[in-house]
Amino acid sequence: MTVIRAKHVRFSFTSYLIILVSVMFIITVVLSFKLLTVDQCNCAVPETIRYYEIKPKPKSKLISSKHRLAVLVPFRERFEELLEFVPYVHNFLNNQQINHDIFILNQVDAYRFNRASLINIGFLQTKTDYDYVAMHDVDLLPLNTNLSYTYPETPFHLAAPNLHPRYNYNKFIGGILLINREHFQLVNGLSNRYWGWGLEDDEFYVRLKDAHLNITRPENISTGTNNTFRHIHGKDRKRDTTKCFNQREVTRNVIDKQVFMMLCTRF
Ligand code: UDP
Ligand code: MN
Repeated sequence: MTVIRAKHVRFSFTSYLIILVSVMFIITVVLSFKLLTVDQCNCAVPETIRYYEIKPKPKSKLISSKHRLAVLVPFRERFEELLEFVPYVHNFLNNQQINHDIFILNQVDAYRFNRASLINIGFLQTKTDYDYVAMHDVDLLPLNTNLSYTYPETPFHLAAPNLHPRYNYNKFIGGILLINREHFQLVNGLSNRYWGWGLEDDEFYVRLKDAHLNITRPENISTGTNNTFRHIHGKDRKRDTTKCFNQREVTRNVIDKQVFMMLCTRF
């Protein structure tokens, strides 16, 4: 009898242990699943976070420039570049006594990147408080201190073809372009119809020319394509170059641009 009781006690202890371990396992699984589902499902972004009014900072008393510059940076998923860009450009502009603010225009939807629309949005949000804008790539840093960001009487293409590390054709006006409020409005901004990489700047060139605006570029810059700008564009940064329909021809010829409107999404 004694032996049987002893066996009985040993059996019960093991059972308790197994039950305890099982219960702990189930609780852990349920908890992790709960956390997982909360994370995945609770992702609706309130509209108030997506859209907000941009209020300019009070004008700096330390800076003498008469005009205010809004630096408009079209942006998506380039955080490494952004971390370098903001302090560097802020310092560069302060050294030139430029009254400025930097606006990062972050595309948060699932569509293909639309650089032009982001710049248009930035302009609409800032136009009442700023006299001119710099349409500014996040990965292009000015190195030569003679590159001037002062108020442009006519559109001023800072990242000129003879200075840009990569794009050297005459009609190139991408990278960094300064334009005053009146001229941006005169040409009705950029076309919203360019999705993915490229051509929106070439189309903007045509708009400026159609409006008979003279595009100026830096003069007497002693540096060249290798050392005027730093282009932080690693090989892992792929360009989304898929073109829609006859987009390229349409851009070059400036005929009816409605054709390819809105049809090229990222999905
Ligand atoms: N850009 C971005 N995320 C993207 C694609 C482009 O932020 O996925 C912005 C960024 O400001 C970048 C600019 O658009 O500098 C121009 O794109 P990219 O550098 O790819 O073109 P590149 O001029 O080097 O050919
Ligand atoms: Mn780039």
